[in-house]
Amino acid sequence: MTGVLRLPTWDSLDESRFLQRVRPSDWSNPLPRSPYDLLIIGAGPAGLEAADEAVRLGASVALVERNRLGGNSLNVGSIPSKSIIRASRLRAAVRDAEEFSATTTEAMRMDYGVVLARMHRIRARIAEYHSAERLREKGIDLYFGQAHFSSPTLLRVGDVSLAFRKALIATGARPRKADIKGIDNIDYRTSTTIFDMDQLPKRMVVIGGGPLGCELAQAFCKLGSDVSIVEANPKFLPLEERDAAEVLSRSMARDGVTIRLNTTVTAARTENGIKVLETVNAGVKDRIETGEILLSVGRAPNVETLALEMAGIAFTTGNGIGVDSNFRTSNPNTYAAGDVCSPLKFVNVARASARVAVRHALLDEAATTQTALAPWCTYCDPEIAHIGLHIWDARAQNIPVTTYTVMMQDIDRAITDGEDTGFIKIHLQHGTDRILGASIVATNASEIINEMAVIMSAGIGMNQLSSMLHTYPSRSEGFALAALTFVRDARLREPTV
Ligand SMILES: Cc1cc2nc3c(=O)[nH]c(=O)nc-3n(C[C@H](O)[C@H](O)[C@H](O)COP(=O)(O)OP(=O)(O)OC[C@H]3O[C@@H](n4cnc5c(N)ncnc54)[C@H](O)[C@@H]3O)c2cc1C
Repeated sequence: MTGVLRLPTWDSLDESRFLQRVRPSDWSNPLPRSPYDLLIIGAGPAGLEAADEAVRLGASVALVERNRLGGNSLNVGSIPSKSIIRASRLRAAVRDAEEFSATTTEAMRMDYGVVLARMHRIRARIAEYHSAERLREKGIDLYFGQAHFSSPTLLRVGDVSLAFRKALIATGARPRKADIKGIDNIDYRTSTTIFDMDQLPKRMVVIGGGPLGCELAQAFCKLGSDVSIVEANPKFLPLEERDAAEVLSRSMARDGVTIRLNTTVTAARTENGIKVLETVNAGVKDRIETGEILLSVGRAPNVETLALEMAGIAFTTGNGIGVDSNFRTSNPNTYAAGDVCSPLKFVNVARASARVAVRHALLDEAATTQTALAPWCTYCDPEIAHIGLHIWDARAQNIPVTTYTVMMQDIDRAITDGEDTGFIKIHLQHGTDRILGASIVATNASEIINEMAVIMSAGIGMNQLSSMLHTYPSRSEGFALAALTFVRDARLREPTV
């Protein structure tokens, strides 16, 4: 040993291994078997899950992918973003290390190339499970190429026509365009291209304060970029309650993100090589100069290039393909799953909807999985997770609600860890112990929420929850504390003799 620390660097071997798994350069499409029991368009989480489920059921399966296996999640979504977020959290932990007596004498050295190299290694590793070779070994006919319908029972991929008994559309979604004057005349990034940058930008503006915008704004700021985030609404995260979004605003501001709420970007241009955004806030005009722009204003379903009208499949460009509770489209032999048809654009929903669709298509089995009961999480610091109804959903359904909130500053484990920002909130149907939904703002909320997914799926109410023991100290003990409070409140309301 020489004592020289060798940092891992970008390894082109990882990248070529990755490409060999997700899009082999020497791949020959198979000869078509006709008709396929199930033909799947799109090999993201939904398409891959569907293919697995269908071959397990003994069906002949074709899977068509125009780009790379793994879809958004593996290539440009969950996996790359969570790898980068992990690195950014470590850097922030070193920044905050003094509280734990680990004094740092100089700013932590940061090599974005190493962060990227790690992300590439992780992606290559995860790609192995669904590699092209593995799919072939499982007996799935994998075609690379752009697919479109030429009739209600035929799909065209390049020069080849594939006949099917049943088809599943799992073509996902892409970043939505923004109505900003001049934006198409300048270079900007979206979630699809943000991880192609080989250097950390000095300055970056994120347009859009949804989950992806917030996650990436905070991560790049923690990594060392000077980040601003611009959101037209008065709060971030449209799917979350106001107090959850406010905790996030404060935590991003503490990290150094410049926050511009109630602010609309009206125009974009380049001046002397610098990108300039014009903004308006309450009638006051301003401008922001930056090196990089990340546009993150929502996701649009991939429906346009499929010639869906040839197969009699109803869709809209805004909401994607219309489906029933078994994910069947208006053509009774075709189904859709994942981001192309779901308002909740998450991997767990994509996979679950694919399983439901396949089992209905091949076995005529009605849906038992409740995709509406999907937990989700925004991986900021603290994490923000939710399941079930929000207050506004309950109001829309005329369900009266009582809410129990436990603050993280009252939970011993959050205090011992020095991570006592946030809360656990449980919404109940008023006058009953029935849980309608829950929100968690906390470190590791993405893990804690899964307990609530089990509780709600099993139909466990607050009375039963109050008698379930939790490890001490733990953040999820907040569920038990909320349930105990509920039970004590109920006893106080009981008539005394
Ligand atoms: C930056 C980012 C971070 C994210 N983080 C998370 C997270 O932490 N957790 C989470 O649950 N979700 C996350 N998501 C969302 C998640 O990636 C998607 O919900 C998921 O990928 C949807 O899966 P899907 O199979 O429906 O579609 P996709 O993953 O989009 O796959 C669709 C596939 O279809 C192919 N395709 C499209 N049209 C055609 C055609 N005509 N012919 C052939 N092939 C076609 C595409 O090339 C693509 O490979 C994130 C997304 C982004 C962008």
